[in-house]
Amino acid sequence: TYVIAQPCVDVMDKACIEECPVDCIYEGERAMYIHPDECVDCGACAPVCPVEAIYYESETPEEWEDYARINVEFFEEL
Ligand code: SF4
Repeated sequence: TYVIAQPCVDVMDKACIEECPVDCIYEGERAMYIHPDECVDCGACAPVCPVEAIYYESETPEEWEDYARINVEFFEEL
């Protein structure tokens, strides 16, 4: 799955939403979240993010590794 990391917080440009073929990017209060079970790993969202917040899970920069879990938790709380 792809993961949206810290740079999205309080930015929420939403360019990614337009690109996602399966509509699996959801809006939270302060950031966008990718549903880990719905994402088909197409990678279309990552290059259009103006703040480079989106990474393939295993390639997420170390300082933002927590965001894989944060994305999962967002959907558990819905
Ligand atoms: Fe959607 Fe593809 Fe991005 Fe996954 S990688 S969130 S399917 S655009």
